[in-house]
Amino acid sequence: MTVKAYGAHAAERPLEPIEISRRAPGAHDVQIDIAYCGVCHSDLHQVRSEWAGTQYPCVPGHEIVGRVSAVGAHVSGHQVGDLVGVGCIVDSCKHCHDCDEGLENYCDGMIGTYNFPTPDAPGWTLGGYSQQIVVHERYVLRIGHSQAQLAAVAPLLCAGITTYSPLRHWNAGPGKKVGIVGIGGLGHMGIKLAHAMGAHVVAFTTSESKVADAKALGADDVVVSRDAAQMAAQAKSFDLIVNTVAAPHDLDAFMALLKRDGTMTLVGAPASPHPSPDVFNLIFKRRSLAGSMIGGIPETQEMLDFCAEHGIVADIELIRADEINSAYERMLKGDVKYRFVIDTATLAG
Ligand code: NAP
Ligand code: ZN
Repeated sequence: MTVKAYGAHAAERPLEPIEISRRAPGAHDVQIDIAYCGVCHSDLHQVRSEWAGTQYPCVPGHEIVGRVSAVGAHVSGHQVGDLVGVGCIVDSCKHCHDCDEGLENYCDGMIGTYNFPTPDAPGWTLGGYSQQIVVHERYVLRIGHSQAQLAAVAPLLCAGITTYSPLRHWNAGPGKKVGIVGIGGLGHMGIKLAHAMGAHVVAFTTSESKVADAKALGADDVVVSRDAAQMAAQAKSFDLIVNTVAAPHDLDAFMALLKRDGTMTLVGAPASPHPSPDVFNLIFKRRSLAGSMIGGIPETQEMLDFCAEHGIVADIELIRADEINSAYERMLKGDVKYRFVIDTATLAG
């Protein structure tokens, strides 16, 4: 089936309307009519080939929500009409150690929602800036929020799980002091989630204009990270810092804020490396510098259920598909509160 989409034909070209084909649903497939798709900074990195290896045409989008419009003969967990989501993963090997543990995100055969190899035309996966997608049932999530919240649920599928997973892994909760660095799409979700988990949350921002917002999102304290005195006041006090910044920066400034045995986990994935951290910053307090990638399918479902239960959605700005290029420019300037979401109904023209 041919559907309308938005994509780029080259790294230096803007996104434009294109038509793509979707496979007919196989026995284990779910066909989803996409209602909304969030705009992740990873989409921009990929479209512009900042991580290299982008195949064109490139249709990004891995924060997908919509309704099931068809299911294959062997699908048991989803029915036509259900509200569902698809995040960053559309396939994996299904039999390795990681898949067995529900950590498909760490499977060597993980297939991402865009720019990964697939037998379907054109030979690589095409993402959610499109009217429809067909996905194996294992990678389709149930949504417990209401239809009215649906657009604001979309960012949970990447920004939500990418912050939820490290917060859970490193035991954010009551009695823990957690820092969230960068208040963008990921960071604003990190603040909401860490707050809902009961941690003491401190947000770090380069933008003075976001200080009041960060408190409203659930931060107990907000630090302007360019201010050395504000940074020094937080020294050696954090159990965990989740760093979402999308650009290279001085990691030592944040490592120095960890207490003994504290961890800073990087989730931001800049196009070029950070300056090397100082080894002594790790040695002296037995600190750890770690990384974390999205989350597995069971944990993504757990995160969606947690958010439905706690009334958590993203703060979004709904855009038309033809506003995507200016949205990218605004995202680069940190000028979004706090996630753009495409209304895919506007793809019809
Ligand atoms: P975003 O909405 O653009 O937010 C990034 C935030 O970082 C900005 O709002 C800004 O916050 C802060 N920042 C400070 N200096 C910056 C600079 N020079 N350039 C850009 N941002 C700067 O991006 P996002 O969608 O949250 O994604 C953040 C990063 O995570 C991206 O690199 C993305 O590819 C990556 N990512 C990783 C995973 C994973 O699995 N690990 C998943 C999704 C995304 P302040 O204004 O508060 O300083
Ligand atoms: Zn993403």
